[in-house]
Amino acid sequence: MTETVDAPTTTRIPHWIGGRRVEGASGRNGPVYNPATGRQTGAVDFASVEEVDAAVQAAREAFPSWRSTSLAKRAELFFRIREVLHARREEAAEILVREHGKVFSDALGEVTRGLEVVEYCCGIPQLLKGEHSEQASTGIDVYSIRQPLGVVAGITPFNFPAMVPMWMWAPAIASGNCFVLKPSEKDPSASLWVGELLHEAGLPEGVFNVIMGDRVAVDALLDHPEVAAVSFVGSTPIARYVYEKATAAGKRCQALGGAKNHMIVLPDADVSAAADAAVSAGYGSAGERCMAVSVVVAVGDVAQPLVDAISERIPKVKVGDGMDPASEMGPLVTAEHRDRVASYVENAPGEGATVVVDGREGVPEEGFFLNPSLLDDVTPAMKSYVDEIFGPVLGVTRVATYEEAVRLVNESPYGNGVAIFTRDGGAARRFQFDVQAGMVGINVPIPVPVAYYSFGGWKGSLFGDRHVYGPEAIDFYTRGKVVTQRWPDPATSRVDLGFPQTR
Ligand code: NAD
Repeated sequence: MTETVDAPTTTRIPHWIGGRRVEGASGRNGPVYNPATGRQTGAVDFASVEEVDAAVQAAREAFPSWRSTSLAKRAELFFRIREVLHARREEAAEILVREHGKVFSDALGEVTRGLEVVEYCCGIPQLLKGEHSEQASTGIDVYSIRQPLGVVAGITPFNFPAMVPMWMWAPAIASGNCFVLKPSEKDPSASLWVGELLHEAGLPEGVFNVIMGDRVAVDALLDHPEVAAVSFVGSTPIARYVYEKATAAGKRCQALGGAKNHMIVLPDADVSAAADAAVSAGYGSAGERCMAVSVVVAVGDVAQPLVDAISERIPKVKVGDGMDPASEMGPLVTAEHRDRVASYVENAPGEGATVVVDGREGVPEEGFFLNPSLLDDVTPAMKSYVDEIFGPVLGVTRVATYEEAVRLVNESPYGNGVAIFTRDGGAARRFQFDVQAGMVGINVPIPVPVAYYSFGGWKGSLFGDRHVYGPEAIDFYTRGKVVTQRWPDPATSRVDLGFPQTR
């Protein structure tokens, strides 16, 4: 959204540059809503090219001193950041609920999973250790070191306003870089809150900056010669755009895109456990997760019992304001997005799918709510199968064999998460070998890796070759250097104009 809004009663959400709030001067801003009420609560400043430059300059100025800060001091600071974030995690969760709409327990889960990445970064001295070969040649030692890149940027989506930025800023900063974050304009307050909290924890000014905005800010970061690397998480078309533009400008880039995650249920699976998993992973966070299950692929005669078990569970899902402790599923992020998601249910019969549960019925008038929907007989030719719906609409595709199920996954243009439900260890093992996706769950519907592994999909779900967080993040945010050293030894020193060879 790029329109200028006149919102005198709403909170202004400014940038965070050089360790302080900076009000935008571009004259452009965008509305921020509470999705549970549908009312506008904030107006977020949209940065100009000059304001993006100011954030990059703040980061550039902070870099020499930050990269020289000892690993011991960086680790100590990360322990402090972890403590402050942990102590105030409920405050963070509430900010997420009010702008994203997810329920409080889910928001708390988001903050906790993000904190795991901060905890991993407390071990930065261990993570940055190089290798050393003594006496690689006579009198010569060779060793490798990893050094930070400089100013690096992160561009993040609306659906995890705290966790996804943490995937980026924590390893980037721990590795010695200075960071500029461009969060989603739909729910930007968590990033501002993190800026203040990092400052309070003692992070030097300019090491972490937040620039609010839209495409203008993204392009300015991608065009900026001082930005060495860009991490992006969002939809596939924008991920492709960011990757192509960043790499054409000589930047390192990892751009994570959208998903269409399949959950395969084999005939021997425990139907009740599979239905619980499908409902949890399909409707949790109103389906606005890149790892949400979107298609259940029912193999053989498990289909009907599974559809029955899922539809029995749907009316029990409590939909409501995320701050109500009874709610299990909140609203969608905006009215436009809710309407787009609902259109898949509306169009399903025309495509030949069966609407088993229609989530458009019985929704509150206020807010951007949509109840869970279940579509059956969804086939690969339908839009409801092809598109990433990103809402509480679960489709069931019926197939006859395991081979057909795997072919569906492997022919998908996405390859983020995938899951199989079975009691057969051999089938599960074969599946992990066969399937083309970056994250595989075996009787686990949302296989988001723990913080000491890395997160990333295949195909249209990731452009670039480094996954986020975990060891691959440390690689992404650093450059390798190999040093070959000899200390003068009068006993072996001589003139030798030949090409250096190992002796
Ligand atoms: P989005 O692509 O619309 O926006 C992501 C970021 O890009 C935002 O900061 C936004 O301001 C910016 N942006 C939007 N349009 C742009 C444009 N034309 N030019 C430049 N920048 C632009 O994504 P979203 O709707 O915020 O988030 C949902 C999407 O993110 C889904 O597709 C979801 O699957 C994906 N996602 C993927 C992962 C993953 O790990 N693969 C994780 C979370 C979300």
